[in-house]
Amino acid sequence: MIVYKFGGTSLANAARMKSVADLVTRDDVQKVVVLSAASGTTDTLIRLSAASQADGELIIQGMEDQYQRYVSELLENEDCRQAAERFLEYTFASLREALGKSLPRDEKWFVAYGEIISTSLFSLLMVERGISSAYLAALDFMRIRDGEPDMDAIRKLVPESIASVGDKKIYITQGYICRNESGQIDNLRRGGSDYSATILGAALMADEIQIWTDIDGVHNNDPRIVKKTSRIDELSYAEAAELAYFGAKILHPLCVRPAREAGVPIKLLNTLNPEAEGTIIHRENLSEKAGVKAVAAKDGIIAINIRSSHMLMAHGFLRKIFEVFEHHKTSVDMITTAEVAVSLTIDDDTHLHKIVSELQDYGVITVDKGQTIICVVGAFRKEDAGIAVQVLNPLRNIPIRMISSGGSESNISVLIDSAYKQQALEALNKDLFGQG
Ligand code: ADP
Ligand code: ASP
Ligand code: MG
Repeated sequence: MIVYKFGGTSLANAARMKSVADLVTRDDVQKVVVLSAASGTTDTLIRLSAASQADGELIIQGMEDQYQRYVSELLENEDCRQAAERFLEYTFASLREALGKSLPRDEKWFVAYGEIISTSLFSLLMVERGISSAYLAALDFMRIRDGEPDMDAIRKLVPESIASVGDKKIYITQGYICRNESGQIDNLRRGGSDYSATILGAALMADEIQIWTDIDGVHNNDPRIVKKTSRIDELSYAEAAELAYFGAKILHPLCVRPAREAGVPIKLLNTLNPEAEGTIIHRENLSEKAGVKAVAAKDGIIAINIRSSHMLMAHGFLRKIFEVFEHHKTSVDMITTAEVAVSLTIDDDTHLHKIVSELQDYGVITVDKGQTIICVVGAFRKEDAGIAVQVLNPLRNIPIRMISSGGSESNISVLIDSAYKQQALEALNKDLFGQG
C-alpha cells in the first residue's frame, strides 16, 4: 500500500486533475489517494465563513461558476457529469443555507467543503474511467484530541472504513479535515493535507508516502525568496522535521513526525514533472553526509525577554516561566539564557497579553514582534569543528537577536528582525551553497 497526496496546485483545474488520475492509475499498486482542495478554494471558503449575506452570495456564485466549468471540462460521461452537477447543486445549497444563518456554522465547517468537493469530483473521474475505487470520508476516521492526531483512534477506524467499502485498488479521501474529541468538524491547520497523508501512512503502515506538489522535491533554500535553489536528494527524518517546522512550506510543520515514528519513508515528487527524481526522507541519520544541507525561514515570531536580577539562577525559576506558557497552551520554539535574563520565542500570539502579564511576576518583560527564525539544517556532529562559523559568517552584516545551537545535531537557528530575512537567506545561499 502506498499513500499518495496531491496538493492544491495539482488540482487547480480539470486538466491537472486528469493528470493526477493518469499518475495514480499507471500501475497496479493499491493506493490511498489523499487530496487537498483545489488551490484558492480554502482561502475563498475562509472569506465566505466571515462574509455578510450579500458578499457571501457573490462568493458562492463565483465558486459555483468555477466548479461548473471544472466539471464540464473534467467529465465526458453523461451519467458521471450529471452526478457531479447534482453534487455541486447540493453542496452550494448547503453553503447558502449556512450563510443565511439558519444554522450556526463556524469557519471549520465551511472550509471542509474544499476537500469534500475535490475528492467527490475525483471519485467520479475514477468511475468514468472504470477504475476499482472507493470514496472514504475522512470525517469518519481522522480524529484529533487536544489538537493532536489521536493515533489510537485513527489506527482502529481507518481499517474499518476501508473494510466497509471492500477491496479496491484506489481509496480516495480528504486531506486536512478531521473531527475533534467533541465530534465537531475540525482541521489540521493550513497545509494540513501533508499531515493527513503521513498520519494515514503511519496508521496503515504503508510502504511509502508520496507527497506530490508543484516542485521537484525539497530545495536547499526557499524558492519563493531567493532566485537560485537546488533540489536535495535525500534528508533524514530529523532534518526534514526541522525544515518543515521552521518554515519550508513544501511540508506541513508537523507532518514528518507520524512517518518517522512508524518508519515509513516520505517521497516528495512533482506533478508537473512526474519523472523527476524528487527527495526522499528516510532513516534516522545520514551521518556519512555531514555538513549544511538547507536553510528555511519562519516568520511571525515573537521574542519575549524576561530579565530578573536575583531569581534567574534559582532552581525552579525556568519551570515557573514554562508553566505560564503551558497553562496558555503556547509552545516555545527557541530559548537562550544568560545570568540575568532568558529570551524565548513563540509563534502564536493568541494569549500573548495574558502570558506577558503573568510573566511580570518573575521579572521585567520586553516583547519584540515581527521576528524571523532562520534555521540552518544539516548533519552537525558534535565532534565537527567550524560549523557555527560557517553558519554565522554569512550573517555578519545582520543584527542577530538570538542564536540556538546544540539542541539537536541537525539544526542551528538564529532569530533576526523580519526586515533582514531576504538579505539573510540570500547571504546564506551565496556563502553556503555558492548560489548567487
Ligand atoms: P501544495 O499545494 O502541493 O501543498 P505548497 O504550496 O504547500 O504545495 O508547497 C509547495 C511550495 O513550497 C513550492 O511551490 C515552493 O514555493 C514552496 N517552498 C518553500 N520552501 C521550499 C523548499 N525548501 N523546497 C521546496 N519548496 C519550497
Ligand atoms: N486545503 C488546505 C489549505 O489550503 C489544506 C492543504 O492544502 O493541505 O491549507
Ligand atoms: Mg501544502
